[in-house]
Amino acid sequence: MPFIQKIEQQITADPNLDHEYQWFLGIEKFNKLAPRLILGEDSPALLGGRAFGSQTLSGNGALRMATEFLVRHLNYKTVYMSNPTWDNHRLVFRYGGFTDLKYYRYWDPATRGVDFTGMLEDLKKAPKNSVIVLHMCAHNPTGCDLTREQWTMVADVLEERNLFPFIDAAYQGFASGDLDKDAWPVRYLVDRGFELFIAQSFSKSMALYSERVGCLTVVLGEGHAQDAINMSSQLVLIARAMYICPPKHGALVVSTILSDPALREECDLCIMYLLRNYRKKCLKIMNDRIQDMRKALNESLVKLGTPGNWDHVLTQLGMFSFLGLTPRQVEYIKKKHHIHMLSNSRANMCGLNDKNVDRVAEAIYDTVV
Ligand code: PLP
Repeated sequence: MPFIQKIEQQITADPNLDHEYQWFLGIEKFNKLAPRLILGEDSPALLGGRAFGSQTLSGNGALRMATEFLVRHLNYKTVYMSNPTWDNHRLVFRYGGFTDLKYYRYWDPATRGVDFTGMLEDLKKAPKNSVIVLHMCAHNPTGCDLTREQWTMVADVLEERNLFPFIDAAYQGFASGDLDKDAWPVRYLVDRGFELFIAQSFSKSMALYSERVGCLTVVLGEGHAQDAINMSSQLVLIARAMYICPPKHGALVVSTILSDPALREECDLCIMYLLRNYRKKCLKIMNDRIQDMRKALNESLVKLGTPGNWDHVLTQLGMFSFLGLTPRQVEYIKKKHHIHMLSNSRANMCGLNDKNVDRVAEAIYDTVV
């Protein structure tokens, strides 16, 4: 993103920039601003001191840090992930100490959408005090999200069975192009009084993959502000045991962008504010392009008369599409057409462009006929 470069130049030009150790939980300003992006500027949980952020080594680092805490301090043993889920989840949760790794149904190959009945059934059977990992939006790998009504039903089950929601927020802005809209599920759960963890990533939303910028946001219940302070001191120990402190550069970039203009009067307020809005625009541009490619692929498949229904290519959200090809078909399309995707047919929609989309559609046609 072009504005990132501008901010980086500004940061590195600062003669006071140093390479001292940072606080174990990272940059204070970042820890204030990142949770606001998800929980909202006026979040009562943040204002009341019962929610706080802790800078982590991106989304994956937040998942790992939270896992350590859940296992070490709260004695959780069982974690439920969606089936399918992002590959790394299993590894992180296993290495982080969960001994019982389970899945709830999520993908329905017949409808190429969410198997919501299966999901609810599985959650209802989950042992009390299990941790449930939920993707906030733009589910990876399926690209299928729950509706708001479905979220409310999931929340009912979480409440009934005393299950702990662990939210993976790696793609805020990538489902609707609107950061607030995409954060709705989390804000809803917090409004309902849930205690939860959020693993937030800036890899995608600010294209800062290698800088490892993320945040673990902890939300506790009403009246637990003191517990929040106690918890953060335990997170300090976890960070110290793993890496001492997170790196500075990416978090400086992000907190500069997220800065509230009112708090930055001495700096170049207007530019910061404009950049912040510009960032929203960039996200929208990226998101619109992915949508255009989904549309083009769907149209091309339909025009070719490709057997089957291809509506899901259009309706799935985020960067990925679960095409619904069998592993054998995926093998074929890879070998014959050199079009690559995971064996479960998760394809990255960002790889499509005006020049290759028809060729991809023709290859899919050739594969399924
Ligand atoms: N969670 C999900 C669902 C992801 O897809 C990813 C990255 O692809 C991550 C978390 C973690 O990303 P990072 O560690 O780069 O923030």
